[in-house]
Amino acid sequence: MSVVAIDGPSGVGKSSTAKEVARRLGYRYLDTGAMYRAMAWLCLNRGVTDPVDVLEQVRGVDLEISTDPDDFFVSVDGIDVTEEIRESEVSANVQTVSAVVDARAELIDMQRDIITGAPEGIVVEGRDITTVVAPDAPVRILMTARDEVRVARRAKELHGTDDAEALAATAEHVTGRDAKDAVTTSFLEASDGVHTLDTSDIDFDQVVETVLSLVKDAR
Ligand code: C5P
Repeated sequence: MSVVAIDGPSGVGKSSTAKEVARRLGYRYLDTGAMYRAMAWLCLNRGVTDPVDVLEQVRGVDLEISTDPDDFFVSVDGIDVTEEIRESEVSANVQTVSAVVDARAELIDMQRDIITGAPEGIVVEGRDITTVVAPDAPVRILMTARDEVRVARRAKELHGTDDAEALAATAEHVTGRDAKDAVTTSFLEASDGVHTLDTSDIDFDQVVETVLSLVKDAR
């Protein structure tokens, strides 16, 4: 089975890269961050914060996520939360779920089932894909970019500009979330056999071409 595993911090361009690579290869696409975000949205909505209760929510949920790179959606218990999971309140509270080790284990099981159910190939992106979810994937990539580059990319995404005010408003979100994520997942250094792809000084097309050539080399 062809699995392309991509990890990296926020604002590095994992999602758009993974989606485009999936399109070009005719593979499925799995945004694991969207699963953590959907659960965080549900917990926020139900006022759940205690780790034991978070685990109960994850165990009981009907979580549906699209793996079509051209038609993305995610829903929890029948509620479509595709738009809602991108709200800053969800980003700020996602660790209510992602820091709970047992909740991660449940989501990782679901992710592995999705991967197994995609024999045509799948590009999977997140924080622990190359190390925990799919350590045997034939292609494993850690995407990186200098902090200021990631902050500028996110500022443009969120505010439509990377002027000084937008940068200041975005910096803490990006680097603060990474620091908290780094407690439970290790995505800042490539583990053995994982290619590091520094995207700081190359454009989107070059990133996609590099990933495609790594896939080709692995065949
Ligand atoms: O990739 P994205 O920014 O959407 O991920 C949202 C959050 O989900 C991350 O900040 C992290 O807390 C969590 N996450 C994770 N493991 C993954 C993917 C995402 O812990 N594989």
